[in-house]
Amino acid sequence: MTEPILEVRDLEVRYGPSQALFGVSLSATPASVLCVLGANGAGKSTLARAVSGLVPPSAGTIRFEGRDITGKPSHRIRKLGLTYIPEGRGVFPDLSVIDNLRMAVGQEKRGERPAAIDRAIEIFPVLGSRRHQRAGSLSGGEQQMLALARALAASPRLIIADEMSLGLAPLVTESVFQGLDAARKSGITVVLIEQFVHRALSLADACVILMRGRVGWSGPAAEAGREVLERYLGEGEHSAAPVG
Ligand code: ATP
Repeated sequence: MTEPILEVRDLEVRYGPSQALFGVSLSATPASVLCVLGANGAGKSTLARAVSGLVPPSAGTIRFEGRDITGKPSHRIRKLGLTYIPEGRGVFPDLSVIDNLRMAVGQEKRGERPAAIDRAIEIFPVLGSRRHQRAGSLSGGEQQMLALARALAASPRLIIADEMSLGLAPLVTESVFQGLDAARKSGITVVLIEQFVHRALSLADACVILMRGRVGWSGPAAEAGREVLERYLGEGEHSAAPVG
């Protein structure tokens, strides 16, 4: 069996007196898409923040490519190749598109930077035609593409994409999903936190559903059928999440 690239065991996270995650375990295999679903407040972003070193776990372990990264600072984890794209766009609005990409590849070897930028633009050609435009003046969807292009340009091994489709029109969401699919095809593992449940499941290989800070269900994405979604996500009449 393939070794997981990411392995989370018995993870607990607290914010002061309140606990957000309780004994969460999951794993992702290399070059796969793992989608993390859950109602508002279920703990999806907390999981992403803990894995990427932005909040310290109070218990449990996180291993990335076999290495224990539990409690390591976020810049170290990013350097190892695990990139988190937070909810709400990680771009510098006052810089041009191309300068945003140049900043993203700052850690790469000098000679490899132009090729890394070209690869990112290849996935989202619209960024190429807008390379000198200020990022803040791009549409919401284009800014998400730039956020994803920035993450991909930095040669990650795994990206965590947190609700990238939030507030985007379906057509633009589709471009973002296609970018994630291209990333997976190039060997990058994707952890996808999503509100567009069905679209996320159609891209994903595996799925974890969080319920009030615990894993309610996990398994192959193909097995997350209507019954599972209704039972663990409350999808249907009291769904908090739009059906994509
Ligand atoms: P959403 O889909 O609404 O973004 P989520 O599944 O990502 O929700 P989290 O943002 O991880 O959920 O929140 C999980 C729980 O932790 C919630 O009860 C939330 O109120 C709480 N929480 C999140 N961030 C903090 C914080 N900085 N301080 C205190 N409590 C927090």
